[in-house]
Amino acid sequence: MSRDDCLFCKILAGDISADIIYESDTAIAFRDINPQAPTHVLIIPRKHISTINDIETEDEAIVGSLYTAAKQIAQQAGFSDVGYRVVMNCNEAAGQTVFHIHLHLLGERAFAWPPG
Ligand code: AMP
Ligand code: ZN
Repeated sequence: MSRDDCLFCKILAGDISADIIYESDTAIAFRDINPQAPTHVLIIPRKHISTINDIETEDEAIVGSLYTAAKQIAQQAGFSDVGYRVVMNCNEAAGQTVFHIHLHLLGERAFAWPPG
């Protein structure tokens, strides 16, 4: 999928609305439309990168910024000390459905490990 027909690029461009809760130079975060936890936020880079397999060395700072965003959002929501889960799926077998990398930040519920 190219960035022209990428759902998350359309959200970044403002062509599709989303409940955006965080913005930085490199990333934005918005609430998942089908939440799997009381807090379920997607954190995406402004740069279109399709999958983890497409991350280049030059993208390391961008990808790192997704995690600092997760930390900040969890702190602000008040569950950073209790704990939360951060997941990035890669390709269909792992459940990736939107091919613009994104961290799922899930909080305020119990999590099993291993995830199954
Ligand atoms: P993944 O399956 O890891 O690719 O995650 C894609 C996520 O995007 C799913 O959890 C969907 O619920 C979510 N999603 C799909 N469309 C939208 C949308 N328009 N706004 C917010 N979240 C969405
Ligand atoms: Zn995209």
